[in-house]
Amino acid sequence: MITLHNISKTFATAEGPLHAVSSASLEVEQGDIYGLIGFSGAGKSTLLRTINLLERPDEGSVIVDGEEFTGLPLRELRKRRLSIGMIFQHFNLLNNRNVYDNVSFPLEIAKVPKAQRRQRIESCLEMVGLSDKAKAFPAKLSGGQKQRVAIARALAGNPKILLCDEPTSSVDPQTTGSILAALQEINRNLGITIVIVTHEMNVVKAICNKVAVMEQGKIVEKFDLREKNIAPQSPIAKYLFKNEI
Ligand code: ATP
Ligand code: MG
Repeated sequence: MITLHNISKTFATAEGPLHAVSSASLEVEQGDIYGLIGFSGAGKSTLLRTINLLERPDEGSVIVDGEEFTGLPLRELRKRRLSIGMIFQHFNLLNNRNVYDNVSFPLEIAKVPKAQRRQRIESCLEMVGLSDKAKAFPAKLSGGQKQRVAIARALAGNPKILLCDEPTSSVDPQTTGSILAALQEINRNLGITIVIVTHEMNVVKAICNKVAVMEQGKIVEKFDLREKNIAPQSPIAKYLFKNEI
C-alpha cells in the first residue's frame, strides 16, 4: 500500500544541515494501523509528511498503491493526494465555518457539485457520531469532537489512507479513547489504512498492529504487534515497551 524506500530529508538551519530523516524504509500494508513512535525531534512528522510529499525527500522513493510518487509533477500529485487524508494534533479546523462546512471544504476545493456534497458530508458526520453537531462552530466543541470533525473532513474525499500526526496529543486520556475508537472503526468498517505518529506507547498498544520506533531520524526497530513474543533490542524500544509512556 505504502512503501518508503531509503527516505532521507535534511533541513538547512542556521546551525548547519539537520538530518531530520536518514535512510528510513517502511512497508505499510493495506488495512494496517501502523504506528510511528519516538521522542520529540526523532523525525516522525517529517517522515509521515513524505508519504503525501508535503515534505519532499532528498533521497529515496515513496510508492503508494504501486505508483511512484516521488517524481510526479505537482498537478498530478494534487490528484493523488485526494486519496490520502490527514489529521493533526491541533485539529486545524476552519474556525469561521461550522462543522458541516468544515467537512464540505475539501469537496468544494475538488469542485464536487453541491447535491453530491450533502450526502457525502452527512455520511461522514454519521461515521464519527457527530450528525447532531452539523451546525455547531468549532469554538463550541470539545477537543475530542473537534478531532472527530477533522476525521470526518479527512474522510470526505473517500481516502484509502489516513495519515495522523499526534491526533491525541492535545486531549485528555478519556478523549483519547474516543478518538482512537473512531480511527479503529473507520479502519475496520471502511478498510482505510492508517499511519499514526505518536509519542505514547499506550496509543500504539490500543490500536496499532505494527509500529516503527524512530530515534534521531532513523528507524531503529520495527515490530509486528500481533506476534506473541516481542523482544525489543534497542535501548529506546526496550524503554518504550517497558514504560508504556
Ligand atoms: P515532535 O514529537 O516534537 O513532533 P518529530 O519526531 O515529529 O518531533 P520532526 O518534526 O519530524 O520530529 O522534526 C525532526 C527534526 O527536524 C527536528 O530536529 C526539527 O527541528 C527539524 N525540522 C522539522 N521541520 C523542519 C523545517 N521545516 N525546517 C528546519 N528544521 C526542521
Ligand atoms: Mg511531530
